[in-house]
Amino acid sequence: MHKTKRIINFYNKFNRTFSNNTQYYDVVVIGGGHAGSEACSAAARMGAKTLLVTHKKNTVGEMSCNPSFGGIGKGHLMREVDALDGICSKICDQSGIQYKVLNRRKGPAVWGLRAQIDRDLYKKHIQEELFHKTSNLDVIETSVEDLIIENNSDSLVDCKGIILKDGTKINSKAVIMTTGTFLKGQINIGLDIRPAGRIGDEPAIGLANTLSNLGLRMGRLKTGTPPRLKASTINFNVCEKQLGDDPPVPFSFMNDKVWIDSKDQLPCYLTHTTPDLEPIVRNNLHVNNHVREEVTGPRYCPSIESKVLKFGGRRHQVWLEPEGLNSEVIYPNGISCTLPAELQLQLVRTIVGLEQVEILRCGYGVEYEFVDPRELWTSLELRKVNGLFLAGQINGTTGYEEAAAQGIYAGINAAAKVLGKPPLVIDRSDGYIGVLIDDLTTQGTLEPYRMYTCRAEFRLMLRPDNADIRLTEKGYKLGCVSENRYQRTMEIEEKLIEGTELLKSFSKTASKWKELLKLTPTRNNLQKTAFEMLSTNDNITVDDLAQVIPELKPLTFDIAVKNRLKIEALYESAIAMQINEVAELKRDEAYLIPRDINYNSESLNLSFEEREKLMTFQPQTIAAASRIPGVTPASIVKLLRFAKHRDCDYLANV
Ligand code: FAD
Repeated sequence: MHKTKRIINFYNKFNRTFSNNTQYYDVVVIGGGHAGSEACSAAARMGAKTLLVTHKKNTVGEMSCNPSFGGIGKGHLMREVDALDGICSKICDQSGIQYKVLNRRKGPAVWGLRAQIDRDLYKKHIQEELFHKTSNLDVIETSVEDLIIENNSDSLVDCKGIILKDGTKINSKAVIMTTGTFLKGQINIGLDIRPAGRIGDEPAIGLANTLSNLGLRMGRLKTGTPPRLKASTINFNVCEKQLGDDPPVPFSFMNDKVWIDSKDQLPCYLTHTTPDLEPIVRNNLHVNNHVREEVTGPRYCPSIESKVLKFGGRRHQVWLEPEGLNSEVIYPNGISCTLPAELQLQLVRTIVGLEQVEILRCGYGVEYEFVDPRELWTSLELRKVNGLFLAGQINGTTGYEEAAAQGIYAGINAAAKVLGKPPLVIDRSDGYIGVLIDDLTTQGTLEPYRMYTCRAEFRLMLRPDNADIRLTEKGYKLGCVSENRYQRTMEIEEKLIEGTELLKSFSKTASKWKELLKLTPTRNNLQKTAFEMLSTNDNITVDDLAQVIPELKPLTFDIAVKNRLKIEALYESAIAMQINEVAELKRDEAYLIPRDINYNSESLNLSFEEREKLMTFQPQTIAAASRIPGVTPASIVKLLRFAKHRDCDYLANV
């Protein structure tokens, strides 16, 4: 059922009141990008009276750079956001134009769900969701210039709301800042430098000053975007065509299929740079402000200038990706570029198939301020400012998925705090969201942080296929997951448990199985269950087993369940080992380091380097302390003894 909702179309600057005269909220979210959209949606789902304030309503859900969602590691985050009833995955299923699972040659634990997205459709659906379908949420468009900050009795400060650009104050119990690349943002094209958060958008200067006046450690990072190309001027015949999957795999656990027919998916094309490109970059460094080394850019997503300078003489891949079903725009993935406009045209015309190409919008770079994420508790609330949460690129990450994951986490935790509920805790063994939050809050980041599967030590358990089983119940208990989703997840879990038991109840010798399944004969007389047979290298499926054991037939009716049973079987033994490791880690994590710990205390007897690092990183858990480079296992034991002695638990400290 569509819920009616008040939308405040325009903030009324003359009488400084909103249409419903409300100037008080439980949670205010600043910024309607990917972090902000998830944050306000989650807080509102939890029942908090929520306000989203963003520069422009028509840029809510804007994909600032690449027209795609997901990928390796990022697809995992999407599934986890979906498991908590987030919105981006469902909307990708309604606006994708090509779906492809990456890394298929490897095991399902590291498959990367990815889709090319129609930018306009994505924005349209996100805006419909937030403006028309979300209860408890108001949206206004204006700029937030400052925060309402008050001293409190614990020598901390409280954030009590926001101040808009015309001076109007809005009070709230919690504020979530998700201002992306906008804090003192500056864009670079050649030697042309302009203050902007993104092309066509003003930077956020006031808020950047507020954060720095609060004494937060801040840094500067950069990123860039490629020129956009006119499809009709590209010779696709000399490029390699890449088709989507048939059938496409949806992002959301709630969908059995995506909105588009397999045959209607648009292709992408692969092409390459030629040797003629390099001199254009090298000979024009003096007119390319963005390539300066003082500010760090994304190592895993470098500009074409960085690739030439670091890997000279190589041929580089360029993916030509459509930006929409009815769009003339092609996004050339792999050549983000900040040369002056005329040189960008020369550069792209050296690429195979692009000899006659026309540029619709030139590439640019953006430099911006971020807050050192070690300033945050794992709830994403600032340690120094009670009630102020940060999420998204403002915390030093890059990417829509990383932003969405932090957004939902901060949204749930801010709402939980104001509603008097316990916080959402996702640790490294629960999900990639836990890995992301733990990495950021304990290690900080020196370059734009993006998610990869190699960052997760428990990746066999943290698979995209089982994110619902891992996280949906946690979200449901806090009130951010719908009854419908919860029931669906419980049903699937039950089917998986029953299916596993059924498969384990049929046992035969390995040679008998091979004979029945018409596989290469073997003389192995070891007993194997049907479940174990699923995990062998012979690529046996539930359907194969049901052919020879009719009692297994019911397991073949639900495609999702039978595919998941196969994956569960593949990983069963490896996961058993990981479960022991997780139990060990959880035992350590049960002990939080007290907030008032004195690392200089003689009783701890830590080295100077360790004291310095622990005071800088301020780890919240023993497990987090153990990951700080330079802190020895012997010192971890001392900290663990200290925490046990103080009888610390988790909730008491968050
Ligand atoms: P954003 O999506 O930037 O949203 C911030 C929102 O806050 C905006 O709606 C803005 O209007 C609003 N806002 C800011 N200040 C205020 C204020 N004071 N008052 C009210 N509203 C405010 N990611 C990659 O993964 N790979 C890339 O190669 C890549 N390249 C990029 C290139 C460029 C030029 C840009 C701009 C971004 C790029 N990104 C890239 C990053 C990706 O776009 C972001 O990681 C993602 O959008 C961050 O989401 P967010 O919600 O944190 O912020």
